[in-house]
Amino acid sequence: MQTLLIATWNRHKTREIGQMLGAGWDVRDLASLPHAPKLEETGATFEENATFKALTVSKMFTGLVLADDSGLEVDALDGAPGVQSARFAGPNANDAENRFLLIRKLRNFGGDKFPARFRCVMVLASQSELLGSFAGIIRGNVVLEERGESGFGYDSVFVPQGYAETFGELQPEIKNSLSHRGRALAKVLEFLRS
Ligand code: IMP
Repeated sequence: MQTLLIATWNRHKTREIGQMLGAGWDVRDLASLPHAPKLEETGATFEENATFKALTVSKMFTGLVLADDSGLEVDALDGAPGVQSARFAGPNANDAENRFLLIRKLRNFGGDKFPARFRCVMVLASQSELLGSFAGIIRGNVVLEERGESGFGYDSVFVPQGYAETFGELQPEIKNSLSHRGRALAKVLEFLRS
């Protein structure tokens, strides 16, 4: 059994990574570490934030650490919310408030679907050493009506390319097989095997 510490407080990310890795992996997150830090995300890019999270946490844990920084980039908003995805509607905003603001901004443009992509950058570290950085993207459209209860964040307003359903309506296995996170994690696994 290989232990992997995900440098996150976001249980949804931990759950998805755990589902994708399956048996053989003991996937934990910051909730399992005593005195784990809050991890302020002040970087200008996903890569900067993921690197900061991976290095900070790898100083406190002796095993393999994986950080995930991710978000939604909408063409009509010049790539916003981007690295601010978790804080789009304010520093303490929740997912519903962030979606509400996104929909409100997009309504100003007219139309009912807006090209966008989810991006994920994963950084792997061990004992304060960076092992690699791995990116994944899934393109699709943001829609203005929320659909589906599955997932988290912007899942209920994102329709991946080639599908009619939102990530909120698709089965988790289908989301994981297509998602930015799934694509980045596949590269992490390839790296670990090589
Ligand atoms: P981070 O913790 O700074 O990486 O913020 C990630 C934010 O991006 C989340 O809080 C969500 O708002 C959004 N996000 C990232 N990945 C997903 C996903 O798979 N589905 C929906 N929203 C996501």
